[in-house]
Parts: sequence; C-alpha cells; structure tokens
Amino acid sequence: MNGTVGDDLDLRMLATRHRALTYCVLGIVLANALIPIFPLFPILCAILTVFVVKVLVALRVNRRTIVLACVGMFVPVASMVILLAVAWKASAVLQRAGVRVGLFGTRPEEMVRYAHEHHRCLYCWADMSSSRTGYCPACGLRA
Ligand SMILES: [Zn+2]
Repeated sequence: MNGTVGDDLDLRMLATRHRALTYCVLGIVLANALIPIFPLFPILCAILTVFVVKVLVALRVNRRTIVLACVGMFVPVASMVILLAVAWKASAVLQRAGVRVGLFGTRPEEMVRYAHEHHRCLYCWADMSSSRTGYCPACGLRA
C-alpha cells in the first residue's frame, strides 16, 4: 500500500482529504445560499460522496461500510448524518495523533511540522527515524 507504513494511518493523506471535504461542504453551503440549486441535489450528493469515500479510504474503513455510506449519501437526512460522522471521525483520529485540526481542517504547514516532529517522510509518510542521511528509506527523497 503506497504511502502507508505498517498499521499506521497515512495522517498526511487523511488530513488532505478531510480538508478537501470541509472545503467542498463549505462551497456547497455558500453556493446554495447564493443561488437556489435544489434541482442539482443528486449532482451535489455525488460530488460529496466522492470526498466522503476518499476520507473513508484514508481511515481504512471496510468496504461494506463505504458502500453503505455511498448509498446513504443519496438519502436527504442520512447524508448530513454521514457527512458529520465522517468529518468528526477524521478530525478525532487526527487530533488523537497530535495533529492540530482547525475549523477548515488541517493546514498543510501543520502536517509539515508534524512530519518533522514524528520523523515522517513528507512525500510518502514512511518512518524516517532509522534514516541517518536525511533521505527517505522508502521513496529515496530527501525530506
Ligand atoms: Zn518517502
């Protein structure tokens, strides 16, 4: 599995996808406030579902749950519950690992700080604690 080490989650990937989901929700809420786009509801659900699936994959949730979430994203009230639950879960996992999560998710600079403090490669998130040269043992890039 690219970008992951052992059972550790790729927090950088999770943070990026969680932030993308947050901005997508914000964009849709703003667009909806400016222009009534109710007839576009299924299209918006499809867009949000893509972002939800990306976060669930980064969280390494099993396939059955992902399929259920996809179906639920097209049910009006269930979609909001799923959206909130996925965003909350991603946020909780990141915070438990010691990542600072703001209102709009995790800033890229925060993940750079976290990677340096926890000896992680910025490019593939591999463990760099054994590297004495500063080059990543997994991808070979200097992090
Ligand atoms: Zn690397």
